[in-house]
Formats: sequence, C-alpha cells, structure tokens
Amino acid sequence: MSKADRLRFLTAKVGHDRYTVPIYEAAAGNRCVTLFRTLMSSFCENNCRFCSFRRDRGQRRERWEPHELARVAMQVWREGQISGLFLSSCVERDPDTTVGREIEAVDALRGMGFTGYDFLKAYNPLTDAT
Ligand code: SF4
Repeated sequence: MSKADRLRFLTAKVGHDRYTVPIYEAAAGNRCVTLFRTLMSSFCENNCRFCSFRRDRGQRRERWEPHELARVAMQVWREGQISGLFLSSCVERDPDTTVGREIEAVDALRGMGFTGYDFLKAYNPLTDAT
C-alpha cells in the first residue's frame, strides 16, 4: 500500500481529508482554520456495536507510523495547505499505546519545526471516557 493510498483511506474514514472547523476564541481568536484530519489507526480492540470500526467487522484496516504521519503533515503545512493537525484514532492494542502513538507523531512533527495547531483525541483510563 502506498503512502498516498493510506492517506486517502485514513482521512476518508474520518470524513474529509481537509477539514475546516471553528476554533474557540480562547484557542485561536475565533478564527476558522484548515486542518489535516486523519485517523492514526483504524484497527480497534473494542467492539462497540454502533461503530463501523468495531473489531468484529470485517474490513480493510490501516495505520500511520508516527514519523510517517509527521512527515506528511509537515509537508502539507509547509505548502500552506493546512494550519494544523486534527488527530484521532481507534483503540489499537490498548488506550496507552494508542495515545502514545499519537503523542509520538505530534512530538516528531514539533521536532521538525511545526508551529501550527494540533488536536489529539485522548483517552482517560480512569473514567473510560475520551
Ligand atoms: S472504541 Fe471507538 S473506534 Fe473502537 S469500536 Fe468503539 S467507538 Fe469504534
């Protein structure tokens, strides 16, 4: 699978490959910013019945490697196509691993000089809430 195929798959699964969302005033001066919105992984250990990503649903699965995602996000940010990254994920292996991979990707992105907006969907193991 090529990087372009993976990008199309993982961004299509969250709705749009370039997604514009309003940012609250406290975060970005009430501006709208264009974000690169993608799943970190579509593999899931859970089996929530309402969800198209549930474990027992037979379907194609894909994942980003953290540094690979960082390089792609950095490229489109440098090209001026996005202002930030909106990252979410299915629960691959366990919540700590899932969030750890997201943080690794954002750390790598920041290490490349990215100064844009980033949003991570985190999981709180104490409350079972995202
Ligand atoms: S944990 Fe999330 S991604 Fe996984 S099956 Fe449940 S709702 Fe879907």
